[in-house]
This record gives sequence, C-alpha cells and structure tokens, in this order.
Amino acid sequence: LLYNKSKIFSLSVDSALQKEIDRLLPLLSPFEYDHLDCERLAPITLEINTLKQEKKAIILAHSYQTPDILYGVADFRGDSYGLSEQAKKTDAEIILFSSVLFMGETAKLLNPKKTVLVPSCAGCSLADSITAQDVRDIRKKHPKAGVVAYINTTAEVKAEVDTCCTSANALRIVEAMPQQEIIFLPDLLMGKNLQKQTKKILHLWDGVCTVHEHFRPQELEQVRKEFPQAKILAHPECDPEVVEKSDFVGSTEQMLHALETSPEKEYMMVTECGLAERARKDFPHKRIVGTCHLCPYMKELTLKNIRKALQNPTPDQIIEIDPLLADRARKSLERMFIYANS
Ligand code: 13P
Ligand code: SF4
Repeated sequence: LLYNKSKIFSLSVDSALQKEIDRLLPLLSPFEYDHLDCERLAPITLEINTLKQEKKAIILAHSYQTPDILYGVADFRGDSYGLSEQAKKTDAEIILFSSVLFMGETAKLLNPKKTVLVPSCAGCSLADSITAQDVRDIRKKHPKAGVVAYINTTAEVKAEVDTCCTSANALRIVEAMPQQEIIFLPDLLMGKNLQKQTKKILHLWDGVCTVHEHFRPQELEQVRKEFPQAKILAHPECDPEVVEKSDFVGSTEQMLHALETSPEKEYMMVTECGLAERARKDFPHKRIVGTCHLCPYMKELTLKNIRKALQNPTPDQIIEIDPLLADRARKSLERMFIYANS
C-alpha cells in the first residue's frame, strides 16, 4: 500500500510544474537542455515567474546571460542601449537587472524612485579600470576636451563626464559633441577603433574588456580559410587588428540584427559566447562558426541568485546611489539619449 501511495504521489506531478516543464522544453532544447534539465529547472523558473507577478517586477537580461535566464525568466533580452531604453520606459515597480553591476546602476539612475535589484554585484574589467578621481585628473590634462564615458562605467565615473555612450552609438555621440577634442574612456580598444572613424582628436584611457581583448586576428583568418563564405561580425571592444578583419562591427544587438538581415548562411560572432548561443536559438537556419570567449563576470549570475534577490534581497542586491551623485550621473545618460536621437 505504501509503495502504491508513493507511486500515485510521484505520478501526480503538480500540473503547474508540468506546464512549466512543457513551456521550457521548446525554449531551451536548442541549447541542448533535455527533459531532465527542464524538470530540474522548472521549480525555480516557476517560482521566479510567480514572484515577478506578485511583486510587479520585470527582469532585464543582457544577451551574455545563460539560456535558462534569458529564455526561462527574462522579460527583455538585449544590449546595454536597448535594455537601458527598456529600463526608462517600464511601469513595473521593481526592475531586476540580470547583468553586471554597472547596468543595474544605469537602470537605477534612470528610475530613481523604483527598486532596482541585481542578483550579484558582478564587476566588469572596463568599469573597474577607472575611478572618479582618474576622470578629474585627465580632465585637468585636457581642459578643452569634452568627456565621453562608455556606459561600462560606475555611477561615480558617469557623474564626472559630459555624456555617456554605448557600443551601439559611440561614434554618433563623439561626432555630436560640440568639442573637437574628446576624452573617450575607459575602453582603449574601442577608442582606437573610433579614432579611425572620426577626425576629432581622442584622448584615451587604458581599460580593456577582458573578453574581447583576447580575440586575435589569426582566429579570424582561420575562419576565413575554413569557411570562406562566412560573414564575420565583431564587437567594437575588440582590438583594431581584429575589427579590420571583420565584415561588420556593432553592439551585440546590432550584430544579431546584421545576422538576421544578411543573406549569408555562416557567421562568426567575435564576442562573448552567450551571443552565439542566442543566434543559434533565434536563427536556427544560420550556422555559427569559429571561437568565442566567456565573460566570468556575466556568468556569475544564476537563477538561484535571481530568486534570492526577488524573494528577500540582501543589502548589496539593492542598488542605492547617493541622490546628488545620481543627479549628475543621470545628466550624462540623458545627454546620451538626446545625442543618440538627434
Ligand atoms: P553591448 O552593449 O554591445 O551588449 O555590449 C556591452 C558589453 O560588452 C557588455 O559587457
Ligand atoms: Fe565587462 Fe567585457 Fe564582461 Fe562586458 S564582456 S561585462 S565589457 S568584461
């Protein structure tokens, strides 16, 4: 009798859970998650999705997040620019930013009255490469220059600059600035790429993205040899030698768009591996070739720390920014939106 009871119990799978497994399977099977993986994930994705409804929260996830986050619980997926636009227009009461800390800070700057949560205070080699004092010092050296900060910077740094930019609009912002001399920080490689596209004089910082700096031109040459028809799409955080060998350069979302709208069947995505995974899922008739590199910061985020942040956040999962500093940093972001849409 005991055996039968437990068997009946185990057979009567909770129908909400079963529905969640059925929802996850087609979403995650392109990433080689099988039925067992979805059974394992379903309790936590169901819990997170229920918490989101109860708390009127949304989850924004950068494309470098893992598939269980991107397709299991995220409401919006995208690049830094697209996600900050989403953060600006949402009417949700809580924004959980599944990405590195600077993106959560950006969402808080744009929504000072809302609760903004981050699952973990993950850094970024670019954001960690420069302080507010560094910006004040470099300004003194080039007093006539306008200062543009890549969005991969802390709120303290954003508060010291004239405007921000993202990989989707860096050139446009540099060109729109009234000054002929620009301090562009902190990404040295992106700055070098920009210098090739503008006549303005750029003064650069020496930060690098620990993911994109590792791509070498030889990797692209190898792909050209093995897959002569492949189109190579690169992120502007890569070395200029790498960018030179690619067919298209843009933000992660622009790279996906280029892949979607180009006729070629094969592509190399010269960026973090998460984007190649997204491309495989969203455009299954296209083939992704070549190598990619993982971002250790982006991969710190998990469904478990997302659930913790929504359920009962620890103080470091709640973004707080000094209001005076936030006002100054927000102005730099607002100028970016004005220049980007001018
Ligand atoms: P995108 O804005 O192109 O997604 O790139 C930002 C980035 O590198 C995140 O680490
Ligand atoms: Fe920072 Fe590079 Fe990771 Fe993006 S990919 S979070 S720029 S270290």
